[in-house]
Amino acid sequence: MSRVYNFSAGPAVLPEEVLKEIQEEIFDYNGSGQSVMEMSHRSKVFDDIIKEAEADLRDLMHIPDNYKVLFLQGGASLQFAMIPMNLMKNKVADYIVTGQWAKKAYQEAAKYGKAVKIASSEDKTFSYIPDCSDLPIDDDADYVYICMNNTIYGTVYKELPNTKGKDLVADVSSCFLSEPLDVSKFAIVYGGVQKNVGPAGMVIAIVREDLITDDVLEGTPTMMKYKTHADADSLYNTPNCWCIYVCGKVFKWLKKMGGLEAMKEHNEKKAAILYDFLDSSEMFKGTVEKKDRSLMNVPFVTGDKDLDAKFVKEATEAGFVNLKGHRTVGGMRASIYNAMPIEGVEKLVAFMKKFEEENK
Ligand SMILES: *Cc1c(COP(=O)(O)O)cnc(C)c1O
Repeated sequence: MSRVYNFSAGPAVLPEEVLKEIQEEIFDYNGSGQSVMEMSHRSKVFDDIIKEAEADLRDLMHIPDNYKVLFLQGGASLQFAMIPMNLMKNKVADYIVTGQWAKKAYQEAAKYGKAVKIASSEDKTFSYIPDCSDLPIDDDADYVYICMNNTIYGTVYKELPNTKGKDLVADVSSCFLSEPLDVSKFAIVYGGVQKNVGPAGMVIAIVREDLITDDVLEGTPTMMKYKTHADADSLYNTPNCWCIYVCGKVFKWLKKMGGLEAMKEHNEKKAAILYDFLDSSEMFKGTVEKKDRSLMNVPFVTGDKDLDAKFVKEATEAGFVNLKGHRTVGGMRASIYNAMPIEGVEKLVAFMKKFEEENK
């Protein structure tokens, strides 16, 4: 049995230790005589799983008591609608558009009220994060929205925008649990878990309690109200039980690894290996401004489409998979999430060096 080095942007690599534990428990979870896939979400066994997952996540992120943790379905994309439906009381929201995911969220919000694009980096294919120190924030804005780490383009906010007192909402899908985050600076932090945390099919929304009310836009479906899920502790209807279980295992793994401070160190070390090589290479170049480089998603190109394709093909054959870049950027992208070991990045760089030598 051999495993590849998986650089997929999502669904993505999971810790091997976690996969093995799941394998051991698949027929009989903790003496229950059932797999987690088979048990009632109302059972005591499952109740322990979801409660423990939430407690471990709260512990890892130091989530303040006045925030609810919600395990929701519909992926990160459903939040693009849920956020305006629950928060747009004045029907105005400010969006900073730094990539496709932020743009989709902005376009969705425009269906429910006045969505204002207060900054964008689309002029240079989203290769940087705009200066957000003094933006034209609307007086009436219900919130300011950002996508923290731009999965496709490989940029990340190193500093949060100055929202001039307005609530900040952030999509953290591709940097979730990659480093410490001060939740108290946000109204809502949410992320699809399939990038850095678990299997596909769930989003975790961390929502400040005062925003969880019945005062939502008219016509908001029951399932789209934060209050529905908050009141039922994420068990209003059948949740993604399997995903909650696996995420819970990943939270335990993260704690064992030393928590988010340790993860940050681990991720900085990995990213530096790759970025240092890109900065020294004659053939491979990073595509974003250095100051805005993501620790999680690293796009790079050779400048020659045929050579890019040759690289992706040979890399795949050598066991480095899912390196093809997003269609809008081209070239390559290495996603190096928490579960990617340092040795995976070291070996990738060694392979890139060899490829450069052979294709000069
Ligand atoms: C992948 C991704 C999404 C979309 O996630 P889905 O769960 O597929 O809806 C949204 N935002 C970011 C930043 C992402 O990386």
